[in-house]
Amino acid sequence: MALLLGWRKEGGSVMKSFLIKPVLDENYKKISHGKGVFLYDEDGKRYIDGSSGAVTCSIGHGVEEIIEVMNEQAQKISFVYRSHFTNEPAEKLAEELARVLPGSLNFSFFVNSGSEAVETALKVALQYWQEKGQYRKTKIISRWMSYHGITIGSLSLSGHTDRRFRFVPLLDTSPTIHPPYCYRCPYDLTYPDCQLKCAAELEVAIKRIGADHIAAFIAEPVIGAAGGAITPPHGYYQRLKEICGKHNILFIADEVMTGIGRTGKMLASEHWNFVPDIVALGKGLSAGYTPLAAAVVSDHVMEPIVMGSKMIMSGHTYSANPQSTAVGLAVLNYIEKNQLVSESLRKGSILLNELRKLQVKYSIVGEVRGVGMLTGMEFVSDIFKRIPFRKEINLTNFIVMKAKENGLIVYPSSTGIEGDSGDAILIAPPLTITEEELQLLIDLLDKTLYEVEKHLQVSEINPA
Ligand code: PMP
Repeated sequence: MALLLGWRKEGGSVMKSFLIKPVLDENYKKISHGKGVFLYDEDGKRYIDGSSGAVTCSIGHGVEEIIEVMNEQAQKISFVYRSHFTNEPAEKLAEELARVLPGSLNFSFFVNSGSEAVETALKVALQYWQEKGQYRKTKIISRWMSYHGITIGSLSLSGHTDRRFRFVPLLDTSPTIHPPYCYRCPYDLTYPDCQLKCAAELEVAIKRIGADHIAAFIAEPVIGAAGGAITPPHGYYQRLKEICGKHNILFIADEVMTGIGRTGKMLASEHWNFVPDIVALGKGLSAGYTPLAAAVVSDHVMEPIVMGSKMIMSGHTYSANPQSTAVGLAVLNYIEKNQLVSESLRKGSILLNELRKLQVKYSIVGEVRGVGMLTGMEFVSDIFKRIPFRKEINLTNFIVMKAKENGLIVYPSSTGIEGDSGDAILIAPPLTITEEELQLLIDLLDKTLYEVEKHLQVSEINPA
C-alpha cells in the first residue's frame, strides 16, 4: 500500500509530494485520466477498473453529466457553513434518498467518508437511547471479519486484526460475534442444518453482555474488504433483525460498500427484506467524484431526538457542502435514468457465471461468491480441504500485481476469521460496464490466474 503523506521542502522553496513507496509494488504509477471503465497511467497504459477503485466509482470515470453538474455548482457556490444556512443540493439529495431508500429511512446526515458515516450512525444510536433516558445502553456489538472504517470509533468495531493491532489500547470495543461465513463455518456446520447458529450467536452475546447495556448492532450486509464479498444465507438477516427487535437493540447496516445499487438493490439489506434502523452510505453515493457519505436514520429513531434535544451532536466543517451533495444528486439521477440498479443485478449474474467458469478451470479458486456487481473470489492451496495459502506467500498481493501487469485492477481482500489472513479479491466493476467490457475483464482475469497458477507450480511453493 502506498500512502501519500504530504509535502516536503526540497532545496529552496520547492514543495514536493512524497510517497512511502509500496513495499511490494515498485511499479507504482500515476494515473493520468480515466474514461468509462478504463484508467490510463502516465505511460499511456490502459487498465480496466475491475474494482471501481475500492468499489466506489459505480458509474465509471469521466461521466460528462456529472462533470457538468460539478462545474455548474462550482459557478454558483461550493461551500456554505451549516450553522447559518442550508443549501438546495443538500436538501434535494436528502429528499431523494428518503424517496429511494426503503422503509422510513428519511433523515440524512451528510459527511465526507464512510468512516464518518459510521461514526455518525453510532452517535445517533447512542443519542437515541439517551433521549429515552436509557443512559446505560452504550455498547455496540459488531462481527469479526468486518471493516467499518479507520477512525478510532469505526475501527473499534472492525473485525480486521491487521488494521486494529497498532491501536488496540485506544479501541473501546471489540467485535463480538462470528460472520455468516459458510465456506469456513466457525461451527463446522452446513446450511440449512446449522439452523443459522451464527445468527443465534448474537442472542447469546446479548444475554452475556446484558441488553440494557447495548445500544446497537452493526454489520455489512455483504462483507466486502474484510471478506471478499461474503454473502449470508437466506434467513440470516431476518433472524438478526428479529433478535435486535426482541432485545431493544438498534440495527445499523454499514452499506458504505453495498449501498446505492452496487448489489442490484438500492440497499443490499433489501435482498433479505429487512430495513435497518440506521444505514451508513458512502463510496457509491458520489461514485468517487467528490467526498460524500451519509448516515440515514429511520423516523422512529429520530422521533425522540426531534422531540428532545432537536439536534445531533455531530457535523464536520464540510458536512453537506453543496459541491458534494450536488454530485450525489447527479449520481443518483444518473443511476436511475440508466436503470443501473437492475443492470447491476443482470450483469452481476453474468459476472458470477463467468467467474464460476474460472473456478472450474483453476484449482486455486476455492469459492466464488457475491451478489449483483459485488463479487469475490477466495483462493486456497487445496480445494477439497479448503486450506488457505501460507501468509508469507502473500498470494493476494501477487494476484493483484499480476492482474495490474495485465491491465486489470482488482481489489485485495482478506478472509481470515479475524480479517488478517487468507486470500481473496473483490471484482466489482462500474455498474455501467458493457457486456463486451465484462468479457475483457474476464479474459484478463483468466490470463492472470493462468500465470499465477503457473508461477506457483514453477516456484514449487509449498502452499500449505
Ligand atoms: N464501511 C465499509 C463497509 C467500507 O467498505 C469502508 C471502506 N472500505 C468504510 C466503512 C470506510 O469508508 P471510508 O474509507 O470512506 O472512510
